[in-house]
Formats: sequence, structure tokens, C-alpha cells
Amino acid sequence: EQNRTSLIMIFGATGDLAKRKLFPSLYRLFSKNKMDKFAVIGVARRALSNEDFQRSVKESVISALGNKENLDEFVSHFYYQSHDVADSSSYVSLRKFADQIDENYELEGNRIFYLAMAPEFFGPIALHLKSDGLTDVKGYKRLVIEKPFGHDLESAKELNQQIRSAFSEKEVYRIDHYLGKEMVRNIEVIRFANAIFEPLWNNRYISNIQITSSETLGVEERGRYYETSGALRDMLQNHMMQMVALLAMEPPISLTTDEVRSEKVRVFRSLRTFEGEEVKQYFVRGQYGEGTIQDEKVPKYRDEAMVDKESNTETFVAGKIMIDNFRWAGVPFYIRTGKRMATKSTKIVVQFKDIPMNLYYQPEKMLNPNLLVIHIQPEEGITLHLNAKKAGGHLDAQEVKLSFANTGIHAMNTPEGYEKLLYDCMRGDATNFTHWDEVAYSWAFVDKISEAWEKTKAEFPNYESGTMGPKAADELLEKDGFFWWPVT
Ligand code: NAD
Repeated sequence: EQNRTSLIMIFGATGDLAKRKLFPSLYRLFSKNKMDKFAVIGVARRALSNEDFQRSVKESVISALGNKENLDEFVSHFYYQSHDVADSSSYVSLRKFADQIDENYELEGNRIFYLAMAPEFFGPIALHLKSDGLTDVKGYKRLVIEKPFGHDLESAKELNQQIRSAFSEKEVYRIDHYLGKEMVRNIEVIRFANAIFEPLWNNRYISNIQITSSETLGVEERGRYYETSGALRDMLQNHMMQMVALLAMEPPISLTTDEVRSEKVRVFRSLRTFEGEEVKQYFVRGQYGEGTIQDEKVPKYRDEAMVDKESNTETFVAGKIMIDNFRWAGVPFYIRTGKRMATKSTKIVVQFKDIPMNLYYQPEKMLNPNLLVIHIQPEEGITLHLNAKKAGGHLDAQEVKLSFANTGIHAMNTPEGYEKLLYDCMRGDATNFTHWDEVAYSWAFVDKISEAWEKTKAEFPNYESGTMGPKAADELLEKDGFFWWPVT
């Protein structure tokens, strides 16, 4: 399908996500002629005129991208409807309004419903969309849904049932914005388009894989939400596990949505699950204490706004994930993510096994293993660490790095994550959205860890702000004879 004519309805159109990401991304698509006929209805609680709404859309675009051409024409496609998500009559008037706009703009009954609202509204909105007739269209209908998708497997199932009573699995686009990132999408190309990697991409040649996603920010104003979530649910269940799946999956027989997603699901099915006492050997939790970040003193998590003074919520998680299949048996995938760490960075390091014998002398150190580093953010690119002869020296080996920086990315015209995801949705390509089976397997894996953690009180805080996490996260690798490769 390539029909990009659509009525886009954004629920939560006065919110942070809509302003910072969705409006600027829609503008970029518009300015590159990547949309056909379109109109947007912004839906939110407060009363706003169309003019006020258009002004706010314009301001969001300018604040994200600077002053741009044809902005007035762009915002003329935007309409606003004040709405109460719990009230049927509100949906009935929304339906009439949508039908009218559909007719005026000749949108062929194609509809995208984007839920950019607090997750407790996802289910109820989906149910109303159906019962009040908004999904009763002659074109396509698609539901785009933000994270978090549930709080555990139970609640995710319940949410899924509500959504699926109004939309088929094919019509549901579950956002994982990491799947919009350029270098995350590049993982499969690096793997499957290079004869020098794919033959080595297994337990015979790879010793371990490390995935780090660190932030320097603390919990900011999100204390209330974060207290119910923590790093395990907020980062690991979705973003980290998606990267694991892309790194570990078998080559799909083609790049269609179904083939790619079914290979990812197979990775999730091969995850070794850890329960009870066992969890301690594979997973480490942390919570930040006071510390210094960029010369600034920062408070501990327990002193942040809306956070319990004795909070047991983890702001850091490190883990050793094992994939029990033929390709990966015995190869640990180490992952770590957290707030208030030393650096903001998302990186993947693939460490290859050592050669059988070292013939070359390197003063005071061992020969470096080959590493393939995939830089996801803030820099984007790849670095391959090799050993080569030191110039002038005898046969001394030294490390050399082959680097490719994705420089285009910072240029004006390279798309950012949400832009790509919105474009995919308009084209009907769900490959880079998570299938329900991925969500379900991933929650089942994570639930066992949180169950074990809930049974014991953690000794928090256990890492200083501005460091790379608790000592136990280093020990997790040390006991296997590895260490975290620096990510700076
Ligand atoms: P927000 O609180 O800034 O915005 C919420 C929106 O919902 C507002 O437009 C508000 O008017 C509307 N709303 C709230 N209650 C309503 C009601 N009863 N009836 C009608 N409208 C109502 O939230 P946000 O930060 O934009 O996040 C939205 C979603 O996106 C969440 O699921 C969040 O997890 C997800 N998300 C946000 C970001 C981000 O950068 N902000 C990033 C990733 C995911």
C-alpha cells in the first residue's frame, strides 16, 4: 500500500510529545512532499479555537526547526476539537467533524488515530472509537499507540484486548521510538549486507555483545510516572529488548513486515528466563545518589519531586541476557541503562573472540580483541577496531580504528525518528513497530525480574550520580572475564 492520503487525528494535541515531535515531523513530511492529501484534527481537553491551535502548531515547528517556508499553508490543514475522552457524546461530535473534514479534503475515508496521551486512556479511547463509529470508514484505519504498552504482561494483555476489539493486529502501530533511529535501523543492513560480518555473527566468533543506553538527566518532572515504572519497564522491556532482537535475529527470508517481525519474535522465544534467587546472578538494579554532573551538584533520586523518600524504584538496570538457540548458545548479551550516568550515550559493542595465539608484542598489554561499535546516539556511525603493525616499529601490533560517521544525519534534511515512523504508518509499513507477540514475550521475561525484585528491599542509593552505575554492574561482567568497553 502506498496511499498516503489521510486524516490524522492526534489525541493529546496540546501535550509535550505532539509539540516537540509530532508537529515538526509532520511539517518535514509536508515540506518534502511526502504526504498526499491530508488534514489533522488535534484533540485534547481544553477549549481552543482552530486559530489558536494553528498558532501553537506553527510555534512548535518554529521552535524545533526554525522559521520555515509555507508554514501558513501547512497549518491551514490543522483543526482542533475539544474532547472528553470518557464521554460518548464527545466522540459523536468528533465523528461528525471528522466526516466533514474527510469530505472537504477528499481523504477517501483513510484515518490514522494517534494516541499521544497518558496510557490509562489508550484502551478506553480505542473502545469508544469503535462504539461511537469513528472507525467505521471506507478507507484504511490505523491506530498509533505510544509507550508504555501496559505495566506488566497482565495489564498489557488487557490493553491489547481492548485495542484489538476495535482494530486488527495489522492496524495497530505500537511505537518504539528506538525503531525510528537511523542507526537502529542500520543494524540489519550492517549485518545482512556485509559478507565480512554475517558469517562471523554467531557463538563461534563473537564472545559477547554489550548494549549501553545511558542518560545524564535525572527523572526531571516525571517522578510520579517513574515511581510506578523504573528503568526495567521504562527502558529495558521495550527499547533495549528491541535492540537485542535486531542483533540476534536470523536473516529474514525477505524484508516484509511479517518476515522481519516473526524473526524477532523467535529471538524473544529463545530468551532464557530467570526466576527468584537466580535473578541476582543475571540482573543488577541501581538508584542514583547525589553527585556531580558537568560540574553541577545534583540531588539523589529520593530527593526528587514526587518521589517517595524511601523509594525502591530502580533508575538503573544492568543485565546478562542469554539466548538459547543454535546461533547464540553461550554468548552473553550484556545490557545496561540508567539515569544520571557519566555520559549520554547509546552504543552497541560487539566483541569478537580472541585469535588462537598472539604472535605480536604490544608493550604492557594484551592484543586488543576486534570490536564492532555501533554508535546510535548522540553520534551516529560505526567503528571497527582492528590490530595493525605500528609504523616504523618491528612487528609490534597496535590498535587502529576504522570509523564511519553518519554525518548526513545532522544536516537539515535527514529525517528524525518520529518523522520516519509517521511516514511508515502513512504508507502502511508496520515493520518498525512492535508486534503484540514481541510485547508479550518481552513482558513475560521482565515480569519475572520485577517479581523477584519486589520481594526484597534494595540497598538504595547505590551509585553516585555522574558514574556508570553500581559496582555490581561491573562485577556482572568481571565474573565472566569481561568488562564494559568505555562508551565515551
Ligand atoms: P502530556 O501530559 O504532555 O500531554 C497529554 C495530552 O493529553 C494533553 O494534550 C492533554 O490535553 C490531553 N489529555 C489529558 N487528559 C485528557 C482527557 N481527560 N481528555 C482529553 N484529553 C486529555 O503527555 P506527553 O508527554 O505528550 O505524552 C503522551 C504519550 O506519549 C504518553 O503515553 C507518553 O508516555 C508518550 N511519550 C511521550 C514522550 C515525550 O517526549 N513527551 C516520549 C515518548 C513517549
